[in-house]
Parts: sequence; structure tokens; C-alpha cells
Amino acid sequence: MTRERLYLFDTTLRDGAQTNGVDFTLTDKLAIAGMLDELGIDYVEGGYPGANPTDTELFGQDRKFDTTFTAFGMTRRPGRSTSNDPGLATLLDAKADAICFVAKAWDYHVKVALETTNEENLASIRDSVKAAKAKGREVLLDCEHFFDGYKANPKYALACAKAAYDEGARWVVLCDTNGGTLPDEVEKIVGEVVKTIPGDHVGIHAHNDTDQAVANSFAAVRAGARQIQGTLNGLGERCGNANLVSIIPTLKLKPEFADRFDIGVNETALRKLAHVSHALDERLNRAPNRHAPYVGESAFATKAGIHASAIMKDPATYEHVAPETIGNRRKVLVSEQAGRSNVLAELERVGIKADRDDPRIGRLLEIVKEREAIGYAYEAADASFELLARRTLGKVPNYFDVTQFDVNVEQRNNAKGQRVTVTMAVVKVKVGDDNMISAAEGNGPVNALDLALRKDLGKYQKYIAGLKLTDYRVRILNAGTEAVTRVLIESEDEAGERWTTIGVSANIIDASFQALMDSIIFKLVKSGAPA
Ligand SMILES: [Zn+2]
Repeated sequence: MTRERLYLFDTTLRDGAQTNGVDFTLTDKLAIAGMLDELGIDYVEGGYPGANPTDTELFGQDRKFDTTFTAFGMTRRPGRSTSNDPGLATLLDAKADAICFVAKAWDYHVKVALETTNEENLASIRDSVKAAKAKGREVLLDCEHFFDGYKANPKYALACAKAAYDEGARWVVLCDTNGGTLPDEVEKIVGEVVKTIPGDHVGIHAHNDTDQAVANSFAAVRAGARQIQGTLNGLGERCGNANLVSIIPTLKLKPEFADRFDIGVNETALRKLAHVSHALDERLNRAPNRHAPYVGESAFATKAGIHASAIMKDPATYEHVAPETIGNRRKVLVSEQAGRSNVLAELERVGIKADRDDPRIGRLLEIVKEREAIGYAYEAADASFELLARRTLGKVPNYFDVTQFDVNVEQRNNAKGQRVTVTMAVVKVKVGDDNMISAAEGNGPVNALDLALRKDLGKYQKYIAGLKLTDYRVRILNAGTEAVTRVLIESEDEAGERWTTIGVSANIIDASFQALMDSIIFKLVKSGAPA
């Protein structure tokens, strides 16, 4: 049976940029567009050229993506001609493969918001599509408020969509702009639309105001639509847009869709999905949703000991899909309630062989429990967990001792009379019988401490020469009665391998120091440095 092609359109960088607290830089946009491109998303909507300097710059040059890189903007303004509308001109000149226009499809909005006539709105749609086609662009029309408009005046809503389709728009996208439409309504209305406009020219753009944007997208596909618009992690205004990170694995892994449709995302790319989702959160400096379907840390986590032992015997007993297909992993939680089998599974995962009856396994479990109670999160810091396990099992040499460190932060006037903050760290290290003192200036206390610590480790220096910090995250936790600081540090070596270490303390410098030390020692262990 031949499968039909279903297209994915990502609007993380346009509609997703409306999320409260999200503000993409040009670098962010290029990095995210690159990830979406690699994932195999058919259309990436980069933004709204002319609306802000970032988007104007983004579309100022050819970005050379495989995806159909799409610019968003308004149809020509009422009462103007296409040649006399500066906003439209900017959009038509944007370096984009496609243009996605937005137009009102609800006569009430045409009257109240646009203050124009229904006929003029239709003319604006026709003229704008024609102008973009003349420029050689693929054209899409987002029919704003389509579902509410259809309920109020089906003939007019459909006329807006039809105007764009008749003029040669590749896609007519039905938007549930207010996000309040329910799946059965979406299915029914899309079913009506595809009687007039072929389904392989119809898209769905759902918002999540009833927590059913994903369900609405699938309802539209069932009714015949063949393009789904959405965002990574469901980013978007208010409650967000349809979450492509949930939609993609469902399309790939559930037979109802997988047997009927092909999408641009292949199996290899699907295995990067969890990473893409987490990388977006990291870029936004927000904690990934642990409970996110498919990609969340808890999506395949089991806590109770009885489930853990069943999962070890046959994973399918407790999982609806195999976690590795989307780049997630099965997790048998090392935390409260966890049994010995949990720890053994974690050890196996990080590649440490241990005997089931070794009494030190019980000791390790105790330590993990104690530490998690005061704020450590070993699930987020594999390298620190591995070190803790190796230490408990007596397998980490004592490479060096930091006998003393000192971090000094000073604010003063410099020679030019400017107010400056200067940070310096001094570290005393003992390697075998050698005592070393290193000092370094940094752009902050942790940076200075890191630079001083890694400046001279004597005979071990060569093993850490390629080590660098790639991410530093701080979170204040309220564990017990006092606030503590949890620091997660991500490091990378010369081979591009990455690992995360953790430190927890009431003092941010102490917490950072622990995480820095773990990172260096982890690198020495990994490199097989001699004791
Ligand atoms: Zn929207």
C-alpha cells in the first residue's frame, strides 16, 4: 500500500516567539532553524520580516536550508494596491522560499478589526497571493479565526480559503486562532472544507487552549488535511501551539498514521527528537518538562521496585513505544523507593560492572538517597553519578588534592575612572609530592576558579588540555528549611563528548567547585590517567 505524504510546518520561530518570556536572537533563530532542518521538517517559518530587526536580518540573506524556509506577513492592506504597500514589499523581497500570508477569515473580524468590506478582504487575499506567486515564491495562506469564522459564516470563511487556493496558493491553512475548538468540530469542519479545496492543499494550525491542539491536528488529518503546523515543545502564545514533539513520534510510531502517511522525518532523525526538545529548553534557559510525552525524563521512568524488576525482564510490559526510537531512554529511578535492581540498572547503563550481592551496592543506594534528599539530582548529572558509583566501589584514584582556594571579587574604579568588577581566583593543588599554586582572572568568580583550577595540574595537565565548559546552570532549591544552590556544569572534551556534573551547597562557589572538580576527575577517569 502506498502511503500519502503528510507535511510538517514549524512555526517555533514565529508563533512560538509569542511565548511569554521568549525572545530569540538571530543566533538562536539560526541554531533552531538548523535543528529543524536536520530533523526533516518540511517548512520552517523563520519570522516576520519588517516587524523587527532580528527577523529583517534573518531574511536579509539566503540561509541555504533544505527545508522550505518561510517568511510570514500580512496580505496587502485594505484600500492599497500591492505596489503601494511597504509591508508587503518587504515581505516580497525577503530571502525566503515561501511566503505565508495571514488573513482574516471571520467576517466579524473583517468588519471590526480591519474596518473594511468582505469583498475588499477577498481582493486583498487574491492580490497578495498573486504578487507572491509572481515573485516565484511558494504561497501559503493562514486563515485566521477560520473555525470561529466558519461557525459564524461558513460561506465567507470558505470563500477566503477558496480565494487563495484559486489564485494558486500551495496551502490554505485553517487556523484555530483562539484555540477553543474541539476535535469533533475540527474534524467536521475540515471535512466540509475538503469538499471544496483538495485535502492535500489544506493545513491545520491549532492552538492549545483546551489542551487539545495535538488532538485537533490529528482530527484535521483524519478529515483530510495534509499539513500540520506546530512548534517545538508546544511553544506559543497563551497555552501554546500544537506540539510537534508529540505529533512527530505519534505519526511515526502509531500504526493508524504510520501505515497511512510518510513524513519528512526519518528514523535516524527521530532518534534525535529528545535531544532537539531538550536543546531548545536549554537555549531558553528553562527546565525541560520532565513529564513531556515521548521526550520527558520521566516519560519512560519507573519508580516502584516491583515495576523495575518487570521492566528488566521485558521492557514492553510497561512501555507504549520503545524509548530509544525517539532518543529517550528507559529509566529505572535511582531515588526513594528504589530497590537494588534500580541501582544495578543504572550502573549497567553507565558501563560499570557490579556484583548483585556486593554490599557496596546497598551503601551506594544509601548515599544516593541521602544526597537526593538535600538537592542532588543524579538523573541530570550522569558523570557525577558515575564518579559517585566508582568511588563507592573503590575505583577512583586520588589524582590530586585542592588544599586551598581563594576567590576574590572586587569592585573599584579603574585608571580611566570607570567602575569595574575584577575577579581573581588562587588555587593550591597537591599532585603527588608537588605543590602548585595557580591564579587566574575571570569574568566572574566561577569562571576565575575554573581557569585557575585547570591552569596547572602537573602531570595530569595533558589529559585536561582539551576540556572546556559548555554550559553552566544554576537553580535555587528550597530543600528543607533553607535555600540551597544546585549547579549543573556541562563539559566537552576534544572529541566532542559531553558530560554533566553537579554540585549542591548553600554557597554558590562551593556548589560550583564540586561540579568543576567532578568534571575534571571524570575526564581523568575517562582518559585512563594513571594514579
Ligand atoms: Zn497561531
